[in-house]
Amino acid sequence: MFDIEKIRADFPILQRQINGKPLVYLDSGASAQKPRVVIDAVRDLYENDYANVHRGLHTLSNIATEKYEGTRAKVARFLGVKDEEEIVFTTGTTEGINLVSYAWAAPRFQPGDEIVLSVMEHHANIVPWHFLRERQGVVLKWVEPDVDGSLPPEKVLEAVTDKTRLIAITHMSNVLGTKVDVRTIAHAARAKGIATLVDGSQAAVHGPVDLEEIGADFYAITGHKLYGPSGSGAIHIRRERMAEMRPFLGGGDMIDTVTRDAVTYNKPPMKFEAGTPGIAQQIGMGVALDYLMGIGMDNIAAHEADLRDYTASKLQGLNWLNVQGTAPGKGAIFSMTLGGPAHPHDISTILDKRGVAVRAGHHCAGPLMEWLGVSAPARASFAMYNTRAEADALVSALELCNELLG
Ligand code: PLP
Repeated sequence: MFDIEKIRADFPILQRQINGKPLVYLDSGASAQKPRVVIDAVRDLYENDYANVHRGLHTLSNIATEKYEGTRAKVARFLGVKDEEEIVFTTGTTEGINLVSYAWAAPRFQPGDEIVLSVMEHHANIVPWHFLRERQGVVLKWVEPDVDGSLPPEKVLEAVTDKTRLIAITHMSNVLGTKVDVRTIAHAARAKGIATLVDGSQAAVHGPVDLEEIGADFYAITGHKLYGPSGSGAIHIRRERMAEMRPFLGGGDMIDTVTRDAVTYNKPPMKFEAGTPGIAQQIGMGVALDYLMGIGMDNIAAHEADLRDYTASKLQGLNWLNVQGTAPGKGAIFSMTLGGPAHPHDISTILDKRGVAVRAGHHCAGPLMEWLGVSAPARASFAMYNTRAEADALVSALELCNELLG
């Protein structure tokens, strides 16, 4: 059962006051708050079990290694992956996608080869592909959503030609909340011998993800949005793709042997994890994933769907407010502009005075801002610990904005 009061009590920061008002944290799309179990696990590691991983033969190193490697199995379970060796630890989605761009795509793609991506992508799923455009003449083909922000899979597949090598697509937009049917895209792409990379940064936080079913070649997640520490993350890479990849960063742990004249590499996934990793970060992410699986991703999805519907109905009543993205089944993310000259930064500042934390800016989504014709919407992004009362607080703070700025 989903007990919102119990969940809220698990997050110490939610007790905080901001500007004399109870914190209403609606910026989880940028980074989620951490439950006490995660905070305690990190502290416990440093107080009792900390040492470097993989190299020591002493007790602490063995305990730290066991906890650290235990996270790999948890990520696999969380994502519905059978083989935990297909999970590569990263510092987050940004590193995961850069890994694929550098280690898999760059050595394989020729000038004129095409990558299909949507204009809804986060810069993390754009810039690594621009590198290939700049350096080796790869062509980026952009797909636009429908006016309501929906992105039917057929639209993505229509952009595929015989030059397409990769479809790089988000599972959920961090601005519009649109969910994309990546399963249909990945299966159709595979049938044509095209690889798919899915940016799961947002989607994996808000509902169950089954990668066996989705069937993408690469699926990236980021730990800090999953209620884990910043600097944690992972990417799932299918074995066949791993076998095609050159190493990424060079250093300790990713090697087998090193001499003056030669180097041989560790086997995947270690081949892609150089140097001392984020030990506490990844262990903390593992605890966060246990916490989420304990609550149940279906339960989280149902709670957030209620928040989305409730908030959407309230926002609809504000005729001076423009909400970007109304795709059916979207996540509980609302990007907004006020009619008239009000700047979203002012909205965010006024909301903050009421204790309501939202983000305003381009949300690392330049092509989407261009497509929407806005520069910096204010974004309220809900998480499992939010409530209908907090949606009401948002609406009343927006009404204040309209009085002051409208
Ligand atoms: N992709 C999406 C959709 C995101 O929302 C974000 C973070 O805002 C990222 C990628 C980048 O994640 P990170 O900064 O944790 O690497």
